[in-house]
Amino acid sequence: MTAILPSPSPIPCPGSAESLAALRDRAGPHVDTALPGPRSAELLARQEQRESNARTYPRHLPFAVAQAAGSFIRDLDGNVFIDFLAGAGVLSLGHNHPELVEVATAQMSVFTHGLDMPSPAKDAFTEAQLSMLPAGMADHVKIQFCGPTGANAVDAAIKLTKTATGRGDILAFSGGFHGSTHAAMALTGNLAQKRPIANPMPGVHFLPYPADTPSAGAPDGVDPSAWEASCLALFERALTDPNGGIPLPAAVIMELVQGEGGVNPASVAFTRAVRELTRQLGVPLIVDEVQTGAGRTGTWFAFEQYDIEPDVVVASKALSGMGLPVAIVIYHRDLDVWAPGAHTGTFRGNQLAFAAGVKTVEIFHRDRILDNVRARGEQVRARLGALDSLPTVREVRGRGLMWGIELTAHSDGRGAGQLAEQVQAGALRDGLILELGGRNDRVVRMLPPLNVTEQVMDTALDILVHAIETSAVHTADPCV
Ligand code: PMP
Repeated sequence: MTAILPSPSPIPCPGSAESLAALRDRAGPHVDTALPGPRSAELLARQEQRESNARTYPRHLPFAVAQAAGSFIRDLDGNVFIDFLAGAGVLSLGHNHPELVEVATAQMSVFTHGLDMPSPAKDAFTEAQLSMLPAGMADHVKIQFCGPTGANAVDAAIKLTKTATGRGDILAFSGGFHGSTHAAMALTGNLAQKRPIANPMPGVHFLPYPADTPSAGAPDGVDPSAWEASCLALFERALTDPNGGIPLPAAVIMELVQGEGGVNPASVAFTRAVRELTRQLGVPLIVDEVQTGAGRTGTWFAFEQYDIEPDVVVASKALSGMGLPVAIVIYHRDLDVWAPGAHTGTFRGNQLAFAAGVKTVEIFHRDRILDNVRARGEQVRARLGALDSLPTVREVRGRGLMWGIELTAHSDGRGAGQLAEQVQAGALRDGLILELGGRNDRVVRMLPPLNVTEQVMDTALDILVHAIETSAVHTADPCV
């Protein structure tokens, strides 16, 4: 038996109201130790010894968190980072937004966990979610409260459409990500994750997806407009070819900006064509808005920018604005033929998440958060647009506050994934937390809080651009 590491030395908790307020109002980060610093290193070592090998973030973001406020995280060694991971796009109003803390704290002593029983907090949350839908949509939808993760809601959406259509196949898109449960993973493109898992959910077929970017996400050497046309032809074929081998599916599932897939916004013409054909054929269209939803792309849901109405919308991450777990499926009433108990789950009634979610919607209106998303998104576009001229940058793309910089191999032998890792590490040393994604993790991603200020964004962009420019410098030793 391995000895458990000794308990860490007592860790000072700099969590007074004053220091939290100071953290929230910072203009920028500071990193004063090597990373990880000594106290973080202690906890990382204990974590490595005791936690699963499947753990992820600390491998690339090596610090332990002491506290967080707004757009900032302070680690145990006193280093302060700008957090442009934001809990994987969850903390839409930043860490510990004081008004969300207040309503969640108040709710805590009233009622916390309610299965799927009605309560005032749940009713107000439902009302708030319906009020954010495009005009008229609320009249003909229903909401399923799921287990609190995106993957659970994706599972529910698949079960819903299979039940309603009596069919069993699903069309999904390469590059897509829908979660890590067995079924959600079966719908996900990333083969590295799927390879060790035998017997995935059968009946899933993947088709290529054209992006609304200059490259259209086309393979190297393929003309982008030809690519878009080919993707559409393949999609039509898949749904209609009597000799194509794919039965009429129970659903088509898509992200409108693939997040984990490397920030690929779907082509508008393609998406509209998908909507039209699925409607003609009676195939429900599921739009996975787990990452794009609740304001991330500049509208409450990304589908609004495509001028389509999906049959099923899946949402989760940012619904509570502060990381309290909640997930929903919003779907057309006609699909509501599943039986009582068709998708149960113990944790479908987190009242704290409901209270915070209602307040989040209120703050979105009052503080014009969507305007901020669009303005800060333009700030990013203006600043990063010029990066395209670097030999190691393939494409800069994004919507609202969801951005990706796709890198390409350096002539000195470093691969795109290696460069992206160097950018992430370099930015972290300068105080900016970034995420990676896309094929072979070659896309550097930003998911800032949606209320990030212009000044903090400016500082973050300085750090990011510096990290990308530095990584693009030729190095004699490609292992550096
Ligand atoms: N769908 C999308 C589009 C996502 O980005 C994610 C999470 N990154 C999921 C589903 C799964 O959500 P969860 O991790 O909460 O299960």
